[in-house]
Amino acid sequence: MYNNIGKKIKGLAVFFAWLGMIGSIIYGIIMLMQGVNYGSDAMSGLGLLLMVAGSVISWLSSWVLYGFGELIENTAKIAAQRQTVSDAAAPAALKLLCANCGAELPDDTAFCISCGQRVE
Ligand SMILES: [Zn+2]
Repeated sequence: MYNNIGKKIKGLAVFFAWLGMIGSIIYGIIMLMQGVNYGSDAMSGLGLLLMVAGSVISWLSSWVLYGFGELIENTAKIAAQRQTVSDAAAPAALKLLCANCGAELPDDTAFCISCGQRVE
């Protein structure tokens, strides 16, 4: 559910930007038409202002959300990369081998568990 949250936030930002722009334009047109109907310049002006300013504000404010999504996405990418690097860089556990028979031995053993040879 929270996988790829950065991408989801970015999608949400785009969605809200469109919603805000379309909403502002539709509502602005309605106000403009009503203003024209009632012969009210103030209302028409307000409708026009809402169309332009509402769209711009929706667009600009979506940047913040989009940027936040981008930030999370990149952070997740970096974290994933770091994880991969540290996994690769982690030294394989050094295995102790018997000099006589080549059997793998536990770290703390003094004698080979396979052939009984003293481990140095
Ligand atoms: Zn051995």
